[in-house]
Amino acid sequence: MNFGFTDEQEFLRSEVRKLLDEKAPLDDVRRVSEAESGPGYDTDLWKEIAELGWTGLVIPEAHGGAGLGWVDLVVVLEETGRSLFPAPLVATTLAADAIVRTGSETQRARFLPGLADGSVIGTVALAEEEDTPGEAGIQLSAQRSGEGVVLSGEKLFVQNAAAADIFVVAFRREGELALAVVEKAQDGVSAEDWPGIDLTKRLGRLRLENVEVAAEAILEGGDSAAVGMLFDVGATAIAAEAIGAAEAALALTTAYAKERIQFGRAIGTFQGVKHPLAEMYVDVESFKSLTYYAAWCIDEGHADRSLAASRAKAYASEAIPRIGIDTVQLHGGIGYTWEYDAHLFLKRAKWVRPFFGDADHHYERVAALGGL
Ligand SMILES: Cc1cc2nc3c(=O)[nH]c(=O)nc-3n(C[C@H](O)[C@H](O)[C@H](O)COP(=O)(O)OP(=O)(O)OC[C@H]3O[C@@H](n4cnc5c(N)ncnc54)[C@H](O)[C@@H]3O)c2cc1C
Repeated sequence: MNFGFTDEQEFLRSEVRKLLDEKAPLDDVRRVSEAESGPGYDTDLWKEIAELGWTGLVIPEAHGGAGLGWVDLVVVLEETGRSLFPAPLVATTLAADAIVRTGSETQRARFLPGLADGSVIGTVALAEEEDTPGEAGIQLSAQRSGEGVVLSGEKLFVQNAAAADIFVVAFRREGELALAVVEKAQDGVSAEDWPGIDLTKRLGRLRLENVEVAAEAILEGGDSAAVGMLFDVGATAIAAEAIGAAEAALALTTAYAKERIQFGRAIGTFQGVKHPLAEMYVDVESFKSLTYYAAWCIDEGHADRSLAASRAKAYASEAIPRIGIDTVQLHGGIGYTWEYDAHLFLKRAKWVRPFFGDADHHYERVAALGGL
């Protein structure tokens, strides 16, 4: 196994970094995400990143994508996380990934090119009222209608729900899990975002009222294993963005510890400050390695995939709130103020903690998968 990134992946990272540094500094991120109207992201910048291939990264070249893998995607997501970049990139990628893996050739040809070129925003709709992570949380039950189904119900915690044009919806058909692509334009479909803790990450609700889903929109391979895969890739994507956000929080805090003078010395020279910074570093390095392994397992179809994804998300869910809290704490009184950036990282940390399963959920899964 190669433990380092390839030259191509390092080049991809530096190109992504260059664009985000230039076009998505934190001042712009605040302006776009705090705006009371609008989709919560910069639509011109979205077009630009789509042209650069970020939206089609894991989509095969035959359908307009770059045909790369999850390890490459992790490189991009680390950088978008570092910038707290507000965009429906994770949402669209997860929808695309589900269609790549479970769609028939006709379904792939129908949905993937628009997701790849950024003209269509996609998302996945899994969680419901009880917010039970994993397959047990999917209770939306379909009624048969000819060869298709009718869906009525609500999906919650849907990333970029208001901006999405298509939703990959998980439901049950005679008790068995299935996936279908539902389009915003269909009769009975409505979606809205709600104000969340992290303004850079939009979450919302999808309402389905007697929505007719034709057989052609039910993903051919969308079974229980496919839904399980979707949870694993989702958890890995969230952990990957968390790496970048945590490293950015650490960098911001380290810089402050070097410049803030107290008792005639930089506070970073006191052990009470030095030690939490070292703990933050060790935490990030740990869940970084776990996340890289999870991404590698996804690409290789390795049997460890679920175990690796759960280990990564469990550690990230536990570590990143600690990192967010220490970021604010080590900035003293200015840490929590709106004007200062430290609190943005605490908010991202609190957003990451439960999304696609919190630490308790994933540690229990690790135990179960390990035979405990
Ligand atoms: C909006 C706002 C309102 C405020 N209102 C009031 C008020 O009404 N009344 C009032 O009295 N004060 C007020 N304050 C000031 C507040 O009390 C200080 O912010 C607080 O005492 C922390 O000091 P600091 O922010 O300078 O942090 P710093 O001194 O810069 O400390 C930063 C971090 O380093 C740590 N640290 C510093 N020195 C050491 C050391 N030697 N060893 C180990 N760790 C160290 C600190 O614990 C902290 O985690 C206010 C501040 C703000 C931002």
